[in-house]
Formats: sequence, C-alpha cells, structure tokens
Amino acid sequence: MAVKYIDQIEMKDQRVMIRVDYNVPYDKEMNITDDTRITATLPTLEYCLNNGAKIILVSHLGRPKGQIKQSLSLKPVAIRLSEIIKKPVRFIDSPLGNETINITQSMNNGEIILFENIRFYPGEEKNDRTLGELIARHADIFINDAFAAAHRGHSSNFAVTEFIQTVAAGFLLKSEIEYSQKTIESAERPFGAIIGGAKVSSKLDALTNIVSKVDFLIIGGGMAFTFLKANGHSIGNSLLEEELIDSAKDIMKKAKEKNVTILLPVDIVGAQEFDNESPNAVYPADAIPDDIIGLDIGPESIKLFSEEIKKARTVIWNGPMGAFEMPNFSRGTNEIANVLADSDCLSIVGGGDSVTAVNKAGVSDKISYISTGGGAFLEVLEGKILPGIAALDRY
Ligand code: AMP
Repeated sequence: MAVKYIDQIEMKDQRVMIRVDYNVPYDKEMNITDDTRITATLPTLEYCLNNGAKIILVSHLGRPKGQIKQSLSLKPVAIRLSEIIKKPVRFIDSPLGNETINITQSMNNGEIILFENIRFYPGEEKNDRTLGELIARHADIFINDAFAAAHRGHSSNFAVTEFIQTVAAGFLLKSEIEYSQKTIESAERPFGAIIGGAKVSSKLDALTNIVSKVDFLIIGGGMAFTFLKANGHSIGNSLLEEELIDSAKDIMKKAKEKNVTILLPVDIVGAQEFDNESPNAVYPADAIPDDIIGLDIGPESIKLFSEEIKKARTVIWNGPMGAFEMPNFSRGTNEIANVLADSDCLSIVGGGDSVTAVNKAGVSDKISYISTGGGAFLEVLEGKILPGIAALDRY
C-alpha cells in the first residue's frame, strides 16, 4: 500500500480539507464531556497552520441519518476547538451552499473553518459521488485524520478523494497505520494477542485472522466459555454461543497447525447472578458448577496469562477479561492492564472497553499505543483494508 503522509505534502497557500473524527460525547446540556478526539487532531492542525495552509474541517457526529438534528450540531465543537487551539474557528452551518464556495475561496492562510455535521446530508453514508464532488469543491488537498471512521467508505472520506488530486493521511491516521496495521504484519516476536469481550460472534473474523499472525493468543472474557465448551468442559450458566463451538474448534485447530499457543482461562470467578452483589467464588475452568456464571478470569489464569505477556516483544489487546464494569469482576482485566503496562514490550490497545480498562487502571501512559478506533481497530485485526485508508492509496 502506498499512502502519502501529511509531512510529504507541500501545502503553503492551499485549502487543506481535513476529515477529522469529532464524534465527541455530549451530556444533556450539550456540553462536551470528553474532548480527546479534538485534541488528538492537534498535531495535524498545527502542522497545517505552521505550513501556511487554510484549514477546512469536515466531521460527522452521531447518527442523524441524513437529517438536520440540532442536538447533533458540531457548533459546540467549533467553540471548544477554538478554545483549545487559541484561534478563531469559523463554523459553517450550510457547507455545500454556493455562498460557502466564496467563503472557502477567500480564506487567508492560517484560517480555520469547521463544517456542520456532514451526516446531515443523506448522501454521506451512501458514499454518494455527487456529494463527494460538492465537498471536494472546497479543497486543493485532502487529508484524512479520522481513523475511527476509516472502516466506513462514505462521501467525506471516500468519494471526495476522487475529485482531489493530492490526498494524504494526517498524523493521527499515520500513527494508526504505523502501529496497528503495520505491527500486525511485521511485529517483533514473540508476538501475542489478548482478545476478550462478550461474544465470539463479534470477533470471529478477528480471531480467525490474528491466530495465523501471532505466537500466542490469549482468550478471555465471555467468549472464552465457548472455547472451553469446545474443549468438552462444563461451563455452568456462562455465556455460550452453541452455534460457534465448531468455529472455536477450527481456530484451535489452526493454532495447533501453525504452532501458535492458545491460552484459555484455567480458573474463573463466578456467581449465580449477573450482579456485582451476587456472592462470588473461584472455580476451576474445567469444573464450573451448573448454576454458576463465569464473570472474570481467576488468579491462576491471571498468573498464566501474565507469564506469557512478560515474555512477549509485541502484544495487541482488544476486549476485557471479564464483566469488568462490576467491581467484583474487574480484577482480571485490571491486572492484565497492569502487566501489559509494566512489560517492556510494544503494547497496543484498541477497542472502547479495553481503552476504558487501561484508563481505569491508571496505566494509559505506560501503553505504547492506544488506538482511537473501535470498529476500525477491530477491522484492522480482521486483516481488512479500511476503505478510508484504501482511498488514499494512489502513489
Ligand atoms: P466487547 O464489546 O465484545 O468487547 O464486549 C465487552 C463486554 O463484554 C463488556 O461489557 C463486558 O461486561 C462483557 N463481558 C466480558 N466478560 C464477560 C463474561 N464473562 N460474561 C458476560 N459478559 C462479559
């Protein structure tokens, strides 16, 4: 793949359109509760400002489904960005009107414009070419810095690129490509993956792909029980996807053929109810009583997984080891976060819950790279070429 990065592009006096992901969380009063997604784009914005560009920002927010919804306006983001970057940010609520062309054509170097939520246009999610062309009229250069949206091929990150000659990845997207995508292909070994979360079904493609790339695969969380069942163990009332037992067997078979170690929990913390207050105890993973739900990995599993992680040079983690939102079942996830943080391997964490887990454990600054993508990160694990990145591949 040949994608140019932003620092390989000459941009002085040019209108640089940056597709960002400002899909930030809001509270009921429309206050932005977390501006990480805004601050994550600062390296790209500052680079453009320092290199004499005019900046036009395009983003989506939530799922307005092609309709104008004031509750999903990006106006508060323009205000917050302006505070952070200490410069005016002009908000344009009708980005594709003819009068907006005059505005973007008469911008001065160093000016910043943020367009209204691009998903207010019905064509956006359909990757409508006409919409892509209309968006492209405002730009000489297109930079994609929205990794978290890169698994979607929409007008503002795909069709638009057909109509702009110079396209490149911003610094955020560059990091994601360098860390997540390239690591999987050429990781320093031993290379391991820790995959957890509720269900095998949502991560089947990721498990199938990653098992042929790694030296070891740790499987925790609710999905581990389908694997334990596939090995003939009784799993009590734990999460089970009966129809995926054969898939679990296939993954374990593939691992064996490729000499990949699969590590499953050897003990679990279980309770009778899916409830933090339900009395809990540790059970061997091959003898879970009928009335028990496995809700976390047990101490022996933590030890087993930790030993393997400590030997690795590269580890990728997606998905919690248990129902970690409940404090009594959060220990496994928390301990794995700490072990990963303390190891000197290249550690890459992606996916909403795993990122929450490393933040909760207070160790995010000791993780080598935290991906900004949920669905996009999972598709990288699946080995897919993301449309938003493929659209930049033309050199
Ligand atoms: P995912 O979105 O697939 O990564 O799944 C994350 C969810 O899996 C979290 O909300 C956890 O509470 C849940 N989870 C993890 N382990 C278990 C388990 N043993 N039983 C039930 N839910 C679990």
